[in-house]
Formats: sequence, structure tokens, C-alpha cells
Amino acid sequence: MKYHIDTIPVWDAMKEESECPLCALRRKTERLLVDRSLGASVMSPDTRIKVNELGFCSRHQEMMYAFRGGNKLGHGLMMLSHLQTLRPKVEKALKATGSQSSGGGLGRLFKPAKSASERGPLDDLSANCLLCDEMKMQEDRHAASLLHLWKTEKAFREAFLASKGLCLPDTAKALAMAPELLSGDTLDSFTKAAKDLLNANLKRLEEELEWFTLKFDYRNAEKPWGDSRDALERTVNKLRGWTLGPEPMQDNV
Ligand SMILES: [Zn+2]
Ligand SMILES: [Zn+2]
Repeated sequence: MKYHIDTIPVWDAMKEESECPLCALRRKTERLLVDRSLGASVMSPDTRIKVNELGFCSRHQEMMYAFRGGNKLGHGLMMLSHLQTLRPKVEKALKATGSQSSGGGLGRLFKPAKSASERGPLDDLSANCLLCDEMKMQEDRHAASLLHLWKTEKAFREAFLASKGLCLPDTAKALAMAPELLSGDTLDSFTKAAKDLLNANLKRLEEELEWFTLKFDYRNAEKPWGDSRDALERTVNKLRGWTLGPEPMQDNV
């Protein structure tokens, strides 16, 4: 797969010294996309066609609704136009959906989530999100750019080795993508660096989080926090990707 490499944002994210530069970039990108969805692009015909077709997932609806006090008119207009496109499809899907009982009642509640092959035309109508699609493209591009920097810039290799590495999900993503973009010694050295950094930084977080919990003991009240004051947020962010705490890369938006 050919990726569009853009190394400057990755360097900028490295300077944040967060638990994961790819997460910092992902969150910044997400804020920009939400902002753009509610801003100038609300009325652009291109975006309108895509929104009408795909809609937005629940998480991104929530972000749009809350972002900078929201833009209820813009959000409402997009949803109106999406609903007008969607309604005939729902009617068609409802006609195509049989009346086979799926157990009903409580039995239905405890059924496992449907697999892709069990999903019908009605399920597909709420399965897409324009922002998730764009995020996926940008995430791939950021990870590919990071690997490209590892291959081409000694200064980046040194900065990466001195950093806190990547979060758990982005380590998995980068390791999976690495053989596609790196080979030989650069592949081996990146694989080793990413694994070693994850191990070492999870150990560091375990110590920081333990001290965070011990600080709640009154006997430790007067002792210094050290680096543990935000250890809970950073541990969650390391294990699951950025989730809690101050928005990363705020100055850049
Ligand atoms: Zn991450
Ligand atoms: Zn989404």
C-alpha cells in the first residue's frame, strides 16, 4: 500500500513528550476533523454527499455536539440532509428484512453481537462514519511517516529511543505495519526499539501508578508526588490510546 508520508507532524508530536506521539497526532487530527465538519465544510457539496451517505458514529456525534459549544444549526442541517438520504434506504431495508423471530425478550439481550455475515441491510445503515473513515486514513499515514523517519533520519531514531515510545495499541499497529515499509537492519532495530520501549515504559508506569495510589495513605500525604500526579491518566492512555487528561497538542490547533 502506498502511503502519503508527512514527517513534520510526527516530529511536532514527538516534542510533546507524551505517552504516545501517534495518539497525540490522532487526537489533534480528530479535533481538526470535528471542527472542519461543523465549520466551512458543512455546506461544501463534496462533504455533504459523503455525510449523506455515511453519517457519523455515536462517538463523533457526541464530539460534534460538544465541540466549542457546538454548532447546533450546522449539525442539525447535516443530520437533516443525512436523514433525508437515509429514510428511503431504511424503508427499503425494512421491506427486505424478514420477520423471522430472533428469540425476542430477554433471550435477545443475551445473544452475542452479530458477526459480519449475520448483519442485514438494516444493520449496515448505522455502521458507517465519515470521520472514522478519515481518521483511519490519517492514522495509517502518521504511522507510516514515523516508520519512514526511523528509516531515514538518525536524529529521529535518537529522539524515539529517548522517548516514552508508543502506547500499547499503536505499538501493535506499528509492529504490524513495519515489515511493509522497513527491511533488514532498520526493520530489526525498529522492532527491538518498539518492544523494549513498551516493556520499559509499562514498568515505569506501574511504579508511578503504585506511588499514585500510595499517596492516598495519610502517612504519605506530605511526601512529594514525583511524576505520579497524573499517573492514572497516563496509564490509561498508554494501555488504550489517548483517553484521559488534557488534550494533547492544544497549542497546535
Ligand atoms: Zn498511541
Ligand atoms: Zn466515527
